[in-house]
Amino acid sequence: MIPKVMIVEDEEPLSLMLRYNLEAEGYTVDAVMRGDDAEVRLRESVPDLLLLDWMLPGISGIELCRRLRSREATRSLPIIMLTARGEESERIRGLATGADDYVVKPFSVPELMARVRAILRRSKPELIATILRAGDIELDRETHRIRRNGRELHLGPTEFRLLEYLMQSPGRVFSRAQLLDGVWGRDVFVDERTVDVHVGRLRKALGRGRDPIRTVRGSGYSFDESFLVPA
Ligand code: CA
Repeated sequence: MIPKVMIVEDEEPLSLMLRYNLEAEGYTVDAVMRGDDAEVRLRESVPDLLLLDWMLPGISGIELCRRLRSREATRSLPIIMLTARGEESERIRGLATGADDYVVKPFSVPELMARVRAILRRSKPELIATILRAGDIELDRETHRIRRNGRELHLGPTEFRLLEYLMQSPGRVFSRAQLLDGVWGRDVFVDERTVDVHVGRLRKALGRGRDPIRTVRGSGYSFDESFLVPA
């Protein structure tokens, strides 16, 4: 089963960026820009998680949240509110209205993705795999342990996140810029060559055996799909 996430956000670039990152993690995404449209959509089908902006045309995120909580079908729908800085004083009201969590814009994408995973793991544990497996590599997201052929490997935190990110979407080619956004976060300004350095470290840490990371000339990197099939 693939988790379904609905985004209700009227800032189109932000909505697209969230969609991109959620899809990269393997979620199915539905996005609407108005609060009233979201309410209609949510009467038709209920996603596994809702990312809900605070200020929206139609009806506000906070009002929508209140209405969703009063309906049986959406009473326990996990909701993460997205609030702008100026609205921070309203945080308490957001949580009081029944949101499960909130993030303040501008937020770090990897951090938001981690929260999405954490909430889904609580509410729908069957949808979120704690352990990713590919070939002889096993990555445990909860304990942050990686084993290859049963032997534990020691990776730095960045190498771990990089491998986790690539392993989530085998075969998908990520540009260096996309990897920087997804692994390091948008607010971190590092050179694209940093990605090459960490891919190099990751390869080294993975040790002997087939190299699961594919370098795609002129494009970036991907986790080799053929690696999923044991040799
Ligand atoms: Ca807004």
